[in-house]
Amino acid sequence: MSYVSLVFECANCGHMDMANPELVLSIPARREGGRFVPDPNGKREPICRFCAVQALERIRSGDPMLTSVSPVLREPDYFDRAYGEPAADFEP
Ligand SMILES: [Zn+2]
Repeated sequence: MSYVSLVFECANCGHMDMANPELVLSIPARREGGRFVPDPNGKREPICRFCAVQALERIRSGDPMLTSVSPVLREPDYFDRAYGEPAADFEP
């Protein structure tokens, strides 16, 4: 893999993860007391693979809160492209 990986703290669960900054799924959130809280007016912050999988389930079921998503999310290999292969020691 030649892309630059973004290392971040998940805005949803606080787990550290790595992803492609171009493709990573993000949610609007803000920092409050050292952790992220969802905020519709906040900056978009990346979320981890585990949370992204759950978010995608909600997107596919038509959650109206999650409508502004890129069409790449609907591609079957999205997670491997965005997050790479899951590391052997990665346990969400
Ligand atoms: Zn997470």
